[in-house]
Amino acid sequence: MLTLPHKRFAELKGSAKLPSPDGVALEIARLALQDDVPIGRVVVVAQTDPALTGRLIQIANSVALSGRRPVASIQEAIHRLGLSSVRNVALGLSLMSAKGDELCAKFDYLDFWAHSLACGIAAKSIAANLRLAAPDEFFTLGLLSRIGCLALASVYPVEYAKVLGDAAGRAPQEILALEREAFAIDHAQITAAMLADWRFPPPFVEIAMHHGNPAEVALAEGSRALLASQALGLASNIADLCVADETGRKHILPVLFGQGARVGLDEGALARLTDLIVAEWHEWGGIVNVATSAVPAMAQIAESRFKPDAPVGAERERTLKILVVDDDRSSRMLLEAILGAEGHRVTTAINGQEALTRIAQDPPQIIVTDWEMPILDGMGLCRALRETPAGRLHYVIILTGHGNEERLAEAFASGADEYLTKPFKRSELLARLRAGGRFIALRDTLVRESVELRKVAAELAVANRRLQAFALTDVLTGIPNRRFVLERLDQEFATAVQDGSHLAVLMMDVDHFKRINDELGHAAGDRVLREIAQILRRDSRIEDTLGRFGGEEFLLVCPGLDASDALAIAERLRAAVAKSAVRAIASLAAPTISIGVASRTGKEASAGDLTDRADRALYQAKHDGRNRTAVA
Ligand code: GH3
Ligand code: MG
Ligand code: MG
Ligand code: MG
Repeated sequence: MLTLPHKRFAELKGSAKLPSPDGVALEIARLALQDDVPIGRVVVVAQTDPALTGRLIQIANSVALSGRRPVASIQEAIHRLGLSSVRNVALGLSLMSAKGDELCAKFDYLDFWAHSLACGIAAKSIAANLRLAAPDEFFTLGLLSRIGCLALASVYPVEYAKVLGDAAGRAPQEILALEREAFAIDHAQITAAMLADWRFPPPFVEIAMHHGNPAEVALAEGSRALLASQALGLASNIADLCVADETGRKHILPVLFGQGARVGLDEGALARLTDLIVAEWHEWGGIVNVATSAVPAMAQIAESRFKPDAPVGAERERTLKILVVDDDRSSRMLLEAILGAEGHRVTTAINGQEALTRIAQDPPQIIVTDWEMPILDGMGLCRALRETPAGRLHYVIILTGHGNEERLAEAFASGADEYLTKPFKRSELLARLRAGGRFIALRDTLVRESVELRKVAAELAVANRRLQAFALTDVLTGIPNRRFVLERLDQEFATAVQDGSHLAVLMMDVDHFKRINDELGHAAGDRVLREIAQILRRDSRIEDTLGRFGGEEFLLVCPGLDASDALAIAERLRAAVAKSAVRAIASLAAPTISIGVASRTGKEASAGDLTDRADRALYQAKHDGRNRTAVA
């Protein structure tokens, strides 16, 4: 039995650097866990996030659910997807769009999200195929199955880069051990703890914990838990295949088929399933802005198993997609033969007009075109191409016959990049192509970068809007605001009820604060509030949540504490304020605080009952003379 290092995780969480879903997603997750939630409420919450709304509608209309009338409203989308899908999409997508600073130099963030998305889709499809329970939960499980790695990259960017360096080429078990050595926790444990923190059903937390931890698994042969765990393993293999290069794919294939056989999928069934998963991966990639690379059909990968590995790195010549345009058949065949022998992919057209049609259907990278042709000649083709933004991106080599040389300036003016005199030498043609290949590589980088920039801009806009709607920090004191601390309290209350664990709250209020304002001015009052907030934050435990509850009132949420533990903390905080340097600021009226403590008895219907009781105890403390603590 594996156990979670709860304390260690609480510390990581306290760092506030863990990847975390936004308020909308958390609220939807919370709603979806309740029985009989009217869909209307979920609709209202989802609507506050336009990006999420758009994506839910897109997903409801995606291939996997196609063949039905398209939905246009968020209501219909949520009805069609069902609450648990909506919850999982919201959680997963919110994490993906909350991509933070990419701080860890050795962590491949693009690869991480591409792999995660593929793993989510694969897990969902496999679960559905094997008729395992709750395919939606499997989607999120797959999507988040390595979230612990992202967490390590976020919390310890520098140290984790070093671990990743040391981990290269090692077995999963050894990597987990390296992580535990460096961080006293490993990514599988963090993943499981995060899922538990987001209220994932315990069986799924278990699976996440076992994932990538094969040596420690002791699941009963033939049990559902073992099957579920193997299904997630298979999903992970398929995701590996999606992000691998050609050589990598060939080596993953036998592992994949072996893993498939263990869950009862033969090669044919697994190949069909994988092709569908890859198609869905591409579609989702477009929706959620994750770059997905082309993956050949499984039949093709299987065939390539028996071919030698392609040379790697610099030796590998770039394969180009080339369109040959010439009205002369033998000329076309010659070009096709030379270029094809170099491994390029060649298509042909017999004049400029046909070329334009081909280009629209399947844009080539390089166009090799004859000059003189009926209907639309090479120059006309160039001019037409250069009139469109996409057309400007092609590299055009124009073939000139004798007598054309004097008019070359004209060819360049019409937009040709390079020319070649007929009859040409093979070596000359290939030299021109290499220049074209370099241009195309540069162009692709530029296009990619501008796509990245647009993506960053879009993400910024989303982040900004979120900040406005869900500012969770109190501006005066810099600590969490009322909304945040109450949300936290709700979550902790639910956990405490579920686990039967302790939970206490401290309601704190500055004594005679009005006097401080009156005697020293409002600005000094503000400074006192800031100072007190700092003291309370500094002297409370890392796992407790402190928030500014109102004007000069603060609330501290203490999970796991009973009344007497909470009283001890309250007294510590009260004394810290009373003897603090705040005195120096408010020389006329040294500020003190009064505290009301309440702890969960099991009779409270909601977290509100707990704060009400703390409030009444606070009133008692004031009544008894202030600068003291009272327990409800
Ligand atoms: P008690 O000991 O009974 O709590 O007395 P009190 O004076 O602290 O209580 P009361 O609730 O009467 O006064 C609270 C004051 O806090 C009134 C309000 O003007 C002031 N206050 C509320 N928010 C702020 C703030 O952000 N900055 C400043 N400077 N004062 C604030
Ligand atoms: Mg011709
Ligand atoms: Mg007050
Ligand atoms: Mg007061």
